[in-house]
This record gives sequence, C-alpha cells and structure tokens, in this order.
Amino acid sequence: MTFGYESDAHTEALFAEIGGRWDDRRVEYHSPDQEFVYPGRKVAVIPGVVHPYTPEGCTAEENMWILDGRLLLCTGCGLDGT
Ligand SMILES: [Zn+2]
Repeated sequence: MTFGYESDAHTEALFAEIGGRWDDRRVEYHSPDQEFVYPGRKVAVIPGVVHPYTPEGCTAEENMWILDGRLLLCTGCGLDGT
C-alpha cells in the first residue's frame, strides 16, 4: 500500500473502502499556470467520480472535501490537496 503525502493509514483505509486508488503518474504541476505541486502528491481515482482535466491542464478553481473532511481533492482533476 502506498501512502499520500500527509494522509494517514485510517484515511487510506476509508479511501480504499469507497474503491478509491491513487494514480501513480507523477504530477509535474497544477493548471496551465504551472502552480507548484509538492512531490508525491497524487491524483485520486474514484469510481463514479469524473475529473475532466489532467492536473497540468486543470482550470478548476475549486476543491472538495471527501471522507468527512479527511481528503481534499481538486474538482477538476482529482489532485490531492489535503
Ligand atoms: Zn485540478
């Protein structure tokens, strides 16, 4: 099992329970403005949740909390912003 940058084992377990997994692709930056992304930040892949953008091409301005506020994801690309 791999762990996100700041997430803990309990959060990972809850995430796995909803069928979530982390995309192993390395994220270079966020949005066409090339916002800095901490190394190790990953993109969440969740069944039934569609993210229309890749992190590098993402123009979404909003994040959403999932798992009762344990995980903060970009609504556009699913990038972990917790
Ligand atoms: Zn995004």
